[in-house]
Amino acid sequence: MSYKTIVGLEIHVELSTKTKAFCGCENKYGGEPNTRVCPVCLGMPGALPVLNKEVVEYAAMAGKAFHCTIHEKSVFERKNYFYPDLVKGYQLTQNQHALCNNGYVEIETENGPKKIGIHQIQIEEDTGKALHSDERDTLMDYNRCGVPLIEIVSDPDMSSGEEAKAFLEAIRSTLRYLDISDCKMEEGSMRCDVNINIEDLETGERSAIAEIKNLNSFRAVGRAIDFETKRQIQLMEAGEKEKKTTRRWDDVKTETVLMRVKYTENDYRFVPEGDLPPLYVSQEWLEKIFDRMPELPKKRKERFVRDFQLPDYDAQVLTSTKDLADYYEDLAGEFKDYTMLSNWVMGEVLRRVDLEEGFHVPFEAKDLADLLNLVKDGKINNNAGKKVLRAMFEEGGKPKDLVEKMGLLQMQDTSAMESFVDEVLKENPESIEQIKAGKDRVIGFLVGQVMKKSKGKANPQVVNKLLAEKIKAL
Ligand code: ZN
Ligand code: MN
Repeated sequence: MSYKTIVGLEIHVELSTKTKAFCGCENKYGGEPNTRVCPVCLGMPGALPVLNKEVVEYAAMAGKAFHCTIHEKSVFERKNYFYPDLVKGYQLTQNQHALCNNGYVEIETENGPKKIGIHQIQIEEDTGKALHSDERDTLMDYNRCGVPLIEIVSDPDMSSGEEAKAFLEAIRSTLRYLDISDCKMEEGSMRCDVNINIEDLETGERSAIAEIKNLNSFRAVGRAIDFETKRQIQLMEAGEKEKKTTRRWDDVKTETVLMRVKYTENDYRFVPEGDLPPLYVSQEWLEKIFDRMPELPKKRKERFVRDFQLPDYDAQVLTSTKDLADYYEDLAGEFKDYTMLSNWVMGEVLRRVDLEEGFHVPFEAKDLADLLNLVKDGKINNNAGKKVLRAMFEEGGKPKDLVEKMGLLQMQDTSAMESFVDEVLKENPESIEQIKAGKDRVIGFLVGQVMKKSKGKANPQVVNKLLAEKIKAL
């Protein structure tokens, strides 16, 4: 029998506005517990919320980036439920009339590009955090109460863990380009719930949707979807029926665990928020916001392919964060061999940089361009270039000074190289026999020997040529 997996995601993203959504408290991660609070975000009787304009701007940018309709009128509602991290007893959110609807994100799949629908983007507020101490006490930190969120609700358009990860990747890189959230899953500024069920493709029968809560990494999302697909197929094949459930992912046991049979919409008793008027945004105001938006990752990637003649994959990597893309573009202004540049940035530079921490290198783009010019002009060979770059990362300094200090200037003098070649040939008669017998690879070994004798300063291409000529003449 064959089955289809049906996946939809709900993604909560904390917006990096200066202040909270409905009060003037500072919006910043961490801090001494319960110091960034006021009567409004604690929901004290009589306190009145005032909507933060910056929150609307950020949410509208997200809506625009994901091709949504942005409504002129939207409405805030109270979502009522009790939980210790929610002192007010309700969360301010948008439900029936959200700011943005009907967008999409395009992802790459093994079968080509695929559009994943975005059902809605709504503005809401975050809750506090419960901290569990070693003494089995639970302590409450309300600093996060009222931090602005957007909830991005996708359509159930994904059909595998891979697609879900690609979707999250696209959402994250876009929001980071917009600079409206740092999207750190490990700090909770991006959180993902998965809705998943399966369909029997022959009978059309579908399993009950399971919602997997609060996954804290892309990897966990992928694995939870793969696990849950198998679990639901097994249930269906055994003829067992399940109710809608809420589950969590256990990263150690690598399985989903039942938390509860699901609440329904009615349990929350949504009501319009009486203390906030409907939100109106004019087209004119929106246009001003959109004007401030940077070029987004997908467009930029396409432009990199076009302007720098890069393969798709390279362009994808180089535009994965805005800082990295800016850096490559700065460099491309100084160094015109775009392919060589991309190879060095993707290899030697990126393996020393943790993009999750932002793109930081301890030297200017111009310094790297200078180094690459030394390599390209044959002043130093490729390996020497790598050594210099390493020194630039570890000790700092300008490439020219480092080349001199490290004695890496490449030999320009062919006769000096020739004498090393002669020595090596004399010392390795058996290698010559092997090469004559057709083992071409052995020449690499001999090149290595010459490079060693020259302390890395010989030009490997010249050495290679000299060796080939001399062996042929023997
Ligand atoms: Zn406050
Ligand atoms: Mn929500």
